[in-house]
Amino acid sequence: MQKTENFLLRVQELKKYFPVKRGFFKKPLYIKAVDGVSFNVSKGETLGIVGESGSGKTTLGLMILKLIKPTAGKIFFKNIDITDMSERKFRKLRRHMGVVFQDPSASLNPRMTVKEALKRPLIIHGIKEEKEINRRIIDILKKVGLGEEHLDRYPHEFSGGQQQRIAIARAIILNPELIVLDEPTSSLDVSVQAQILNLLLKLQRELNLTYLFISHDLTVVRHMSDRIAVMYLGKIVEIADTDELFGNAMHPYTAALLSAAPLPTPGARKIKRLMVTGEPPSPINLPEGCRFHPRCMYSTEKCKLQEPPLLEVKRSHFVACHRAEEIDVSNYVRELWTTITEEASYLRK
Ligand code: SF4
Repeated sequence: MQKTENFLLRVQELKKYFPVKRGFFKKPLYIKAVDGVSFNVSKGETLGIVGESGSGKTTLGLMILKLIKPTAGKIFFKNIDITDMSERKFRKLRRHMGVVFQDPSASLNPRMTVKEALKRPLIIHGIKEEKEINRRIIDILKKVGLGEEHLDRYPHEFSGGQQQRIAIARAIILNPELIVLDEPTSSLDVSVQAQILNLLLKLQRELNLTYLFISHDLTVVRHMSDRIAVMYLGKIVEIADTDELFGNAMHPYTAALLSAAPLPTPGARKIKRLMVTGEPPSPINLPEGCRFHPRCMYSTEKCKLQEPPLLEVKRSHFVACHRAEEIDVSNYVRELWTTITEEASYLRK
């Protein structure tokens, strides 16, 4: 077992409930976007977070960045409890965290040149000397594959891939340790996607960065992550090393999610997939017991009554399923992903 001081980030029983507006005399209702999530991230590691839309993965990232306040639970960054830390106190630590969002055209200010966008965080964090500012900006632009000639241009003068390079430069300009990457390539073409992912891997190696990589794209998350946490309706249902998850998935939802991935060449081969029926239940009215039971083909009476805890069933492989050790769902995943790996050569590291 790793000592807690070796983790850059620790999240314990984190919850975020959003109240739903109702009549004055009615019982309050909540959307349980994140509902008791715990994990650790080591320095230099990439933890991928996957799940369908509405699984709570983006809300989780926003809480870790302290952009929204948790309802309950704890967040430790560099072994400091930052959960309820005031913005004034947190300012010194904020420079050690960066973020890259999905849509760079929305996250970059259209009225700021590249130089102004990159200068802003330096000024906020007390770097005032013009020579030092210019040195840092040019250095960081080179790191992300841009140059001095881009300094005075505005975001609309760049392609989507170049805009995301600027957003990455802004995220790393203060030498952070942790970067939350929230679907950083979802809005880009496939060929540009691969360039940005490989840039992120290069920067991670050079700067010893730790990533929390949030995505619904399983090919991308597999390419990027050392470990992966699978979320379903606000909970982690499985967490394991990437190869272990793709080779030996144990939770029926993980198997269904991973086996729903499209082949790069559609119809090239017939592959057995694990199908789930129905839509996810409403996050306002979650089912008793296992949240996945109304859609799970392995469900039993126990599943309807008791919520399964997230338990370590193999070394570093945690699963929240009463039947994890008696059912074998990994065969739905292995063949498909062997084929995807063979075909998606553009993503090889
Ligand atoms: Fe399916 Fe039961 Fe496991 Fe939930 S606990 S995933 S319903 S088998």
